[in-house]
Amino acid sequence: MKITRYKRVQRYLSFYRNNFHFHPPYQILLDGTFCQAALKNKVNIAEQMPKYIGDQVKLLTTVCVVNETEKLSKALYGAMLIVKQFPVHKCGHEKNPIGASECLHSLVKRNSSDHYFLATQDADLTERVRRLAHVPLIYIKMNTIVMEKPQDLAKDMAEQSQEAALTVDDHQLQTLKSLKRRVLGEDAEEEEADKKKKKRKGPKGPNPLSCKKKGAASKAAHPSSSSSSSSSAAAGASNSKESRKKRKRANRIPNHIKRMFNKIESELTAKE
Ligand SMILES: [Zn+2]
Repeated sequence: MKITRYKRVQRYLSFYRNNFHFHPPYQILLDGTFCQAALKNKVNIAEQMPKYIGDQVKLLTTVCVVNETEKLSKALYGAMLIVKQFPVHKCGHEKNPIGASECLHSLVKRNSSDHYFLATQDADLTERVRRLAHVPLIYIKMNTIVMEKPQDLAKDMAEQSQEAALTVDDHQLQTLKSLKRRVLGEDAEEEEADKKKKKRKGPKGPNPLSCKKKGAASKAAHPSSSSSSSSSAAAGASNSKESRKKRKRANRIPNHIKRMFNKIESELTAKE
């Protein structure tokens, strides 16, 4: 097999693998017309199909296909013998076999999750299956097996399903937001806002360590001034004010800095 031909098939196969979840061993449904063409063109299906696909394949027929070639065995005796070489795949018409093309169409249409390839020379069936778009078609042309290029419709379908998977509509966005709020709480938003603030400030902002130190030091340096100048009630009020301030600030300060503050504060009070 020429390299370009091999590459082309691999490109088609990867399209079906990526977009329609096909995977080896590839299940290939064969009908009487395909086997007849193989016989006429001296193509050994069982030998050449795996080579052409370049991977493991399962070559399958159905009761309906076998039944139809038996009926036409006068004209298609050789084809019937070839058809009968392959395993019979369950199609659901075992008790009442139907026409081969109807049977195969119903299989590829109904069971897109089973991922069948269809090998046929039947022009009508080919046209009907093309409209389904997701079924790889195989036929024989000039003594060789050929896989049809994926339909434009198949590409459209693949693109649409990918777009649908990627887009988040307004409702989904709102749900995500409310979920985030419920799970992480309001704090998460505040934290984010704080982070942004800090980022904006950058290194130019005041060093919180030095600010705190100063405050703590001044407080420690003049412990008697507040109590001497004002009444005890006023002192209590100012104290509570101060502590509220402290709490507010503490919200924005990272834990490791807070721990450092506590250490410095306790050291200072120990000195007193
Ligand atoms: Zn059937």
